Amino acid sequence: MQKHQSFNEYLRNLYGCKVFKVSIDANFTCPNRDGTKSFGGCIFCDERGSSTRVHKKKTPIKEQTLENIKIRKTRYKAKKFIAYFQSFSNTYDSVENLKFLYDSAIRVHPDIVGLSISTRSDCIDEEKLKLIASYRKFLPFVSIELGLQSMHDRTLKLINRQEGLDDFIKAYHLIKKYNLHLCTHIMLGLPNETKEDMLQTAKFLSKLNIDGVKLHNLIVLKNTELEKIYLDKKFKPLSYDEYIDIAKDFINILPNSCIIHKMAGSAHPEDIVDSNYWIYKKKQEIENILSKKNQ
Ligand code: SF4
Repeated sequence: MQKHQSFNEYLRNLYGCKVFKVSIDANFTCPNRDGTKSFGGCIFCDERGSSTRVHKKKTPIKEQTLENIKIRKTRYKAKKFIAYFQSFSNTYDSVENLKFLYDSAIRVHPDIVGLSISTRSDCIDEEKLKLIASYRKFLPFVSIELGLQSMHDRTLKLINRQEGLDDFIKAYHLIKKYNLHLCTHIMLGLPNETKEDMLQTAKFLSKLNIDGVKLHNLIVLKNTELEKIYLDKKFKPLSYDEYIDIAKDFINILPNSCIIHKMAGSAHPEDIVDSNYWIYKKKQEIENILSKKNQ
């Protein structure tokens, strides 16, 4: 089996110490939620859009960042940090406003040494990428995280993604033109997808020689469209064993150079529809098992 670097290993090699991401909620929204493309959003997306529960909505960036750094310094003896714009679509604004927001985060503390920006394919263009690439002059690691979820347009339609594979491919080429690290988010266990469908997505990413992948297992969150489908018994989440089996094969299709940013997603137990769902008890176990199999 192949051996892929984890994101932690990659950062340790790059910086010579353990580096932590600090999540930032900059109060963005998403064209798939504000009515530009749709009001509903992707069927699994809740009103927090991946944000953590640590800070109240609209907490100033400086306050969030400093607080997150303080926690990680105290709890984990962390030394260096990556400012991570996580919630919703973090390039969905004018270039001027984006510059103001990114600058606000990276200038807050001298130990911030990298920048990660999570967004969707239809929210980037050349001007925004020029801005983001400009941070490479003084930050060794600058990355874009793009949600693809699946390479299959029929699945993207079913989950109300409101963008297709062509959008992702276009964004991929633009991001590569600016030589930015591209991490792609993939969701395993989407409705109506077989294991073969999911592995086709891995083969597609492999052909692109993708820089990094973040694997998520589809979790049913409260107050989402997916919750209704789940309660109507029209969708069954992957079991723990199914997830391990598919994720292992998925990872091993990816090229050796691909960095595995995450082996499984998680959520706060209070947000998960079925609180007996295995994920929040087993996340670390999954990371350990898949890291071992990935050798
Ligand atoms: S693109 Fe992301 S933020 Fe927008 S609705 Fe889908 S999951 Fe939510």
